[in-house]
Amino acid sequence: MRPTEDKHRHQGLRKKLVDQLRSNGISSEQVLTAIGHIPRHFFLDSAFDDIAYENRAFPIGEGQTISHPYTVAYQTQLLAIKRFEKVLEVGTGSAYQAVVLATLGVQVYTIERQRKLFESNKQFRWLQSQPGIKFFYGDGFEGLPTFAPFDKILITAAAPHIPPKLVAQLKPGGVMVLPVGEGETQQMCRVTNEENGNLRIERFEQFSFVPMLTGKES
Ligand code: SAH
Repeated sequence: MRPTEDKHRHQGLRKKLVDQLRSNGISSEQVLTAIGHIPRHFFLDSAFDDIAYENRAFPIGEGQTISHPYTVAYQTQLLAIKRFEKVLEVGTGSAYQAVVLATLGVQVYTIERQRKLFESNKQFRWLQSQPGIKFFYGDGFEGLPTFAPFDKILITAAAPHIPPKLVAQLKPGGVMVLPVGEGETQQMCRVTNEENGNLRIERFEQFSFVPMLTGKES
């Protein structure tokens, strides 16, 4: 069962989480404000109600996880989101990251390869009331050619390499943030499709994500 009530206690726990993220180096006020507003416990089973605001990942079914709040904040900060941008997310999972992006005023296109997770988001009533998110069931390696190009692309699973079809769906000047690697940890990368046609790759900290897999799971 999903919780549907956002109590004072949850709001207090969220405030503490935001303070913790700030002291861990997250400096984007827009990202911190979004995390301070979104009831993260709504995205988890009520069994996790008391610990939903701890800085850790949780199971969401199908062997998948909702990312650590620090990871969500870190990736979102690297994207340097501006209002009204078009953003593709690969790996909808619990949809928490998609809501964080939508709260920043962008149009979110999010893809999930696990049918059960995709269907469960369709049943999530509170999520349906959140504007600005379009959900797709498919393989994120393919992106969404019909809706391309995107200002920003965010991959929330460990990519074995920088997916070429996604690079092709970035606008000139567009930015993709993704963890790259096939080991236990992966390096966070930011790929910029520079206006002159060059790809600039910046490398950041190590993180640990579930793998980005090809094809769909029914
Ligand atoms: N953004 C999510 C994190 C979920 S974990 C959240 O906020 O909860 C990563 C997700 O990526 C998993 O749900 C997994 O099924 C999905 N995934 C892995 N490979 C994928 C692919 N090729 N295309 C789409 N989704 C993929």
